[in-house]
Amino acid sequence: MELIVARGREDLVKARRGGAVALVPTMGALHEGHRSLIRQARVRADQVVVSIFVNPLQFGPNEDFSRYPRTFDADLDVCRAEGVDVVFHPDAAEMYASDRQVSVSAGHMGSIVEGAFRPGHFDGVLTVVLKLFNLVQPDLAVFGQKDAQQLALIRRMVADLDLPIEILGAPTVREPDGLALSSRNRYLSEDDRQVALALSRALRAGAAEFTPARVRAVAQEVLDAAGPRLTTDYLALVDPATFAEVDESYAGPAVLAVAATVGTTRLIDNVTLTFNPA
Ligand code: AMP
Repeated sequence: MELIVARGREDLVKARRGGAVALVPTMGALHEGHRSLIRQARVRADQVVVSIFVNPLQFGPNEDFSRYPRTFDADLDVCRAEGVDVVFHPDAAEMYASDRQVSVSAGHMGSIVEGAFRPGHFDGVLTVVLKLFNLVQPDLAVFGQKDAQQLALIRRMVADLDLPIEILGAPTVREPDGLALSSRNRYLSEDDRQVALALSRALRAGAAEFTPARVRAVAQEVLDAAGPRLTTDYLALVDPATFAEVDESYAGPAVLAVAATVGTTRLIDNVTLTFNPA
């Protein structure tokens, strides 16, 4: 089957063949992490749509929108190799009318943890994801656990706004040394990359502990040991559904999440762990 590149709603309607449709939303610069999402979509649906759109709404004024990697031709090769049916690649003018007014609010959960450092980011994410859902009309959509708060907020949006779409979460794909794959890793110098390993090392060390206080303390020690080239925005141990910090009596699954800047590159990572009842 020839890969179809769709630029707007009409192209998407024409490309539709019937059967279950899975959507994998991305900002392009596709890597093995994206590929694993596509493969998960492939086994669950008859038709796989990958969207490639660097969404201006989710970048703050001092963030990396203009330098975000754009590698469309290579991305098409990846999609062909993975048996993707449709690549949806709208341009910004197609997505956002200049007089647009209405958008999605991520609420309180969008303003904590990652949201506290990126005001408006999750409103921008949810707005574009809702638009992609309405344009593509998928039966299911796949998102990475790498962006755990994004995944939790998308589940929240689907529940709160009654969207008839199944959301699948996919595990984080890592380099052999632990670094979580990210389109932003290409900004890292070789030295930065070594420093950046502190994120996954801290998460692994923290996740080996058994109480919230120990998890936080041990992970923080590893981050501190990385030295001044690593600036931590936050280390958070939260309930995966609400992103509220867990207390010492918490039992159940938790997400240990970190965001830090190495050189000029901001990285995020997280792991899931479980606290057993005392
Ligand atoms: P992005 O292109 O960075 O917006 O990411 C598109 C999707 O890929 C999101 O659902 C991400 O959570 C997911 N993703 C990004 N990096 C990884 C990774 N290392 N492993 C698994 N999924 C990922």
